[in-house]
Amino acid sequence: MTSRPDAIIVGAGIVGAACAYYLSRGGLRVTVFDEGFAGGGTTAAGMGHIVVMDDSEAQFALTSWSQRLLDDLLPAMPRAAEYERCGTLWVAEDDEQLDAARGKRTYYRDRGVETELLDARQLGEAEPQLRPGLAGGLRVPADGVVYPPAVTRWLLDQAIHLGATVREGVAVEGVAPRAVLTGAGRLEADCIINAAGAGAPRLTPGLPIVPRKGHLVITDRAPGFSRHQVIELGYLRSAHTMSAASVAFNVQPRITGQLLVGSSRELVGWDASLNRDVLGRMLERACSFMPGLAALPALRTWTGFRPATPDKLPLIGAWPSVDGLWIAAGHEGLGITTALGTGSMLTDLILGRPPAIDPAPYAADRVMAEAH
Ligand SMILES: Cc1cc2nc3c(=O)[nH]c(=O)nc-3n(C[C@H](O)[C@H](O)[C@H](O)COP(=O)(O)OP(=O)(O)OC[C@H]3O[C@@H](n4cnc5c(N)ncnc54)[C@H](O)[C@@H]3O)c2cc1C
Repeated sequence: MTSRPDAIIVGAGIVGAACAYYLSRGGLRVTVFDEGFAGGGTTAAGMGHIVVMDDSEAQFALTSWSQRLLDDLLPAMPRAAEYERCGTLWVAEDDEQLDAARGKRTYYRDRGVETELLDARQLGEAEPQLRPGLAGGLRVPADGVVYPPAVTRWLLDQAIHLGATVREGVAVEGVAPRAVLTGAGRLEADCIINAAGAGAPRLTPGLPIVPRKGHLVITDRAPGFSRHQVIELGYLRSAHTMSAASVAFNVQPRITGQLLVGSSRELVGWDASLNRDVLGRMLERACSFMPGLAALPALRTWTGFRPATPDKLPLIGAWPSVDGLWIAAGHEGLGITTALGTGSMLTDLILGRPPAIDPAPYAADRVMAEAH
């Protein structure tokens, strides 16, 4: 096997790639293993929405900080990363949801995030394909979208440039104190980082992560159909329902003119098959908000598995019961947004530097309460 690295990362999804990037920048010699190919797991199945969220202070801190880290890196990223600052438009169906939008605006304003509250007329002007009769919305202009596999590849390329090794098509079969086991043998390092996404508990039993399935559809090109990432405010309710299958209206314009249409959430283990009932409900919901969607041909439909934790926060930090083991996993539906904050925080923790935000809420061995 290759010579002894300082750090071994299991998983070359966007989270593992961000860890490789920051650890390499921190001067460590890194080896990354992926049993498939880089960015080919959940990272390839996601929507790529970069969104500041306000479910909890910890979620806000990690999403907003990660967005700032992305802003710093954007000038160096290739066009293939497909970054667009399209903004998020949160849609309120009725007055109650518009009140929730006002609450969201106050929360963001108090923390320095620019927003605009839109009345029904302004909402229609912002997104003419939305059905009439909606109450209004909240625009968050600084949010954006990326193409996650390309961002992942770019982060790994930067790490390789700094001396990292990326080994695709190599499964890690076991994690031991300061070592991993693969079919080719045992490789040692001072730290091992489990960034295997929804597969992380297979290597570290006891990690509170389960696969949470989601469907997405991509349409044919319809340039100008939608200008923002458009989401119903009810999305938050869907994201929080851990028991039943749930759907919510969530549409994203791609740089190609195509539209990504989501989203659904189900707890069905690793069953990747299309659930026609859930898919039908998801598309019905989307068309009820944007009736014109029904006329657009759907080119492809797929599913992916969000790595979900009970309290909706990722696990970032040491796993004390295995010497030298660190966890960077459990990012549910926000891993594209929060990968950079994760990689940067984990690197600071490993190097003994204070992270830019308090790492305590994300501690891998924290006692978890379910989020409501
Ligand atoms: C439908 C859907 C929509 C989403 N939309 C968004 C969005 O708009 N914005 C957002 O921020 N997030 C979104 N997400 C969430 C986001 O995609 C994930 O949080 C993120 O991709 C997780 O990245 P990861 O690197 O942890 O996992 P992964 O991308 O799954 O990477 C883990 C890697 O580990 C490898 N691996 C696993 N086990 C082993 C092993 N034993 N040995 C070697 N390699 C191994 C896998 O092959 C895989 O490549 C969405 C997710 C879904 C499913």
